Amino acid sequence: METSCPSMLYRLLVDEFLDEVPPNEWRRDGKCLDWPAPENATFERIVGAILVQNANWRNNASKAVENLKKMGILEPSKIVETPPTLLKEAIKPAGFTDRKLKTLYEVSKLMISLRLDSLDDPSLRRRLLSVNGIGPETSDTILLYAFNRPVIPVSKYAKRILERFCNIHLKNYLEWQTYIQESIPRDVETYKTFHALLTEFGLKFCTDKPKCNLCPIRADCRYTMKKPMNR
Ligand code: SF4
Repeated sequence: METSCPSMLYRLLVDEFLDEVPPNEWRRDGKCLDWPAPENATFERIVGAILVQNANWRNNASKAVENLKKMGILEPSKIVETPPTLLKEAIKPAGFTDRKLKTLYEVSKLMISLRLDSLDDPSLRRRLLSVNGIGPETSDTILLYAFNRPVIPVSKYAKRILERFCNIHLKNYLEWQTYIQESIPRDVETYKTFHALLTEFGLKFCTDKPKCNLCPIRADCRYTMKKPMNR
């Protein structure tokens, strides 16, 4: 069977880039990457996925998560009991505090009212999307990293890298998600690792202005095949 372009990209990133992923950004187990929280810390992972929206993990969102931990309120029942002023102060490092505050309250109430882990993938996704401030990328991040469901989130980094590396252009979130999911093995560890690698690679090499001269996978990239290597 012919190897798909995303599948080749995945292998190259594992072989050529995984060792460059900064420790502490992701949990690493051999060649697999996972969310930087204990395996069974479902709520911590959900909160992290919300707080990291439009924020950097290391300098912003992780500090907000640490604040919640230090205050001993990283549980749905404790979040709903915490006054907004206190909660706002705790999550301040992550930015967009008013919006994220509402989302945290809503998602905590949802978790108290319903056993989310008993829902099938589409129902769980629908429930998460019904929360203000949770869009497709965050819901899929939660499905994958908090509930271990085989659903890959599509980040701006994933789109940018695949557009360049595979020279593929798709219309919307769902098309990208379907394309990626159908191109690599349907496996939670693979999805987690691929999403993490794409994020880090998009931050380090395949940035807005790509650093192709330094890129460890440039020999196989269709973008550099089309354009002269003066970037
Ligand atoms: S060679 Fe350039 S465009 Fe291609 S993946 Fe690397 S950084 Fe991105």
